[in-house]
Amino acid sequence: MTQTKVLILGGSSESAKLARTLASDGRFAATLSLAGVTEHPERMPIAVRSGGFGGAAGLARYLTENTIGVLIDATHPFAATMKQNAVEAARMAGVQFLAIRRPPWTAEAGDRWTEIADLGEAATALGEAPKRVFLTTGRQELSPFKRASQHFYLIRSVEPPEPDALPPRAETLSARGPFTVEDETALMEAHGIDILIAKNSGGNATAAKLKAARALSLPVLMVRRPHLPVAPAVESVEEALHWLEGHHEETVTARRGV
Ligand code: NAP
Repeated sequence: MTQTKVLILGGSSESAKLARTLASDGRFAATLSLAGVTEHPERMPIAVRSGGFGGAAGLARYLTENTIGVLIDATHPFAATMKQNAVEAARMAGVQFLAIRRPPWTAEAGDRWTEIADLGEAATALGEAPKRVFLTTGRQELSPFKRASQHFYLIRSVEPPEPDALPPRAETLSARGPFTVEDETALMEAHGIDILIAKNSGGNATAAKLKAARALSLPVLMVRRPHLPVAPAVESVEEALHWLEGHHEETVTARRGV
């Protein structure tokens, strides 16, 4: 049977869902690629490789050497470098390419969002007066908050930050979504949170904190999406599967010479 070899660039809920679905579909032989930044990633039922490729050229070489037929970019919406590398590598290697790009969140009535460019701007926007901040932007990039040391930070991430990276007044919480609105509301109330900082990741798994902030009438500093390269893209895993099936059928038909 003709199999389509797929490389999934991962690190998101979409990459995990796609990997689980393709694992039981004999038409595809899929490998999941992770950056290697998470010490204990979720177990996956397909082959997993870990670590950088060495830029776009390194990824193009990997695609060619491993005779990959399709590259799927399912990295997190804020993994801007990898998204750029993926587009360039697919072009260099002449491999079919599709990106899964989930839509960003948009503010609704009752939301008190201020959109900001990055976490440096977030730290400045907190202002001089001490605040109690719920920081949900991951364990990297904490240095701007170390400098804004008058604030208390509740820092939630999948894995704990390095102790040296923490601002002086901080509490850490390791957890992986999805979260419920009830739990998020209770967490923010229990910690007396004044303001939430989030990346505009989009999706359902971590949206509850925004509903909780709305219900509690709390301000949100929302980091805008990074600029992404123009590329063929869909918004969901279901659409990506549909596209993959179409591509596979075309390949099988072409091989038969029909
Ligand atoms: P990034 O800035 O776009 O990428 C930095 C470098 O990490 C890339 O140049 C690449 O190294 C390597 N890399 C990234 N994703 C990779 C993958 N799936 N497989 C192999 N190498 C990969 O990425 P990032 O923002 O640091 O994110 C790193 C990982 O965490 C990504 O997989 C992303 O999906 C996930 N993640 C990111 C965020 C976020 O907010 N940024 C949130 C949740 C999860 P080479 O150039 O050497 O190939």
